[in-house]
Amino acid sequence: MDRRTALLRFAGLALIGFTDIRSLVAKPLNAIGKKRNSFHQFKLGELDLMVVSDGRIVMKPIQPNFAPGINSRRVEQELERNFAPTDHIELGINILVIKSKGRTILLDSGCGANFGEQSGGLIKNLQKAGINPEDVTDVVITHAHPDHIGGLTGAENQLLFPKAKVYLSRIDHDFWLSENPDFSKSKLTDQQLIQFVKDVAKKNINALSDQLHLFEDGDTIVDCITMQLAPGHTPGHCVAKIFSNEASLYHIADLVHSAILVVAHPEWGFEGDSNFNQAVQTRRKVMSDLAASRSLIFSYHLPWPGLGHVRKKGNAYEWVQQLAMGPDES
Ligand SMILES: [Zn+2]
Repeated sequence: MDRRTALLRFAGLALIGFTDIRSLVAKPLNAIGKKRNSFHQFKLGELDLMVVSDGRIVMKPIQPNFAPGINSRRVEQELERNFAPTDHIELGINILVIKSKGRTILLDSGCGANFGEQSGGLIKNLQKAGINPEDVTDVVITHAHPDHIGGLTGAENQLLFPKAKVYLSRIDHDFWLSENPDFSKSKLTDQQLIQFVKDVAKKNINALSDQLHLFEDGDTIVDCITMQLAPGHTPGHCVAKIFSNEASLYHIADLVHSAILVVAHPEWGFEGDSNFNQAVQTRRKVMSDLAASRSLIFSYHLPWPGLGHVRKKGNAYEWVQQLAMGPDES
């Protein structure tokens, strides 16, 4: 597989050959193509929360990005049954912003310039919501994949949120900075794509010095976020419980990338998980807990604005989207 195909598989858009790539994906994007809100505000206890969009990622083709090795007709039938396209999956890039006691906290930083012009809109959309990059006091990274950590730095390695502390799990930090991060338990085999993922993680982590704060499983950050290890997607991948008074919200990061193919079929899996089987186990465990507790969930990649619940359905789960209401700009 050549580099362009590899990156198209990963993201639909890539570092290279914009014009060519755009012509390849223009049709499905235009077919989707309606105007979206770029931020959505709500309250959680005493916290002011906001979801801000970084854009979107198009994964094409669907397999083997999703459901690697699963019978294609079964996958297609599942998509058709849910009125979804069978040639691509569009992922949201939903960034949760918390305002608390004078702090402005981001959970993840989006793609930056790593995936082309359909993503990397976080700073522009924050500004539409009245937040300048210098206002951001904290950025919590759920895991160091390029669509989560890639927005920390610009092309010249400059920090895009210059006054922010950046929090990353010690496990992910050590994994990505190790000499040879282990992908032997992943279904991802494309070496160029793996190298791209490693390079973006290293570039961004290495650009940080005093700003970087490493956390452990169970640590609480800035009084309102508890990080919980949910390994598999990466070794240090975390979900985050955001809490205020009695209210709470679970940010599930990259536990799932599709409601139709992953929430409803946790074992079909995701090629980009660095430990495929561990990710399936973690996904089942976390979704079981969240369904039992009827928790409000925020998802980084499920449809805008990423808020909803999971409930048990047979031997798996279903995603129940909470529709956006409130003072969104348009
Ligand atoms: Zn992601």
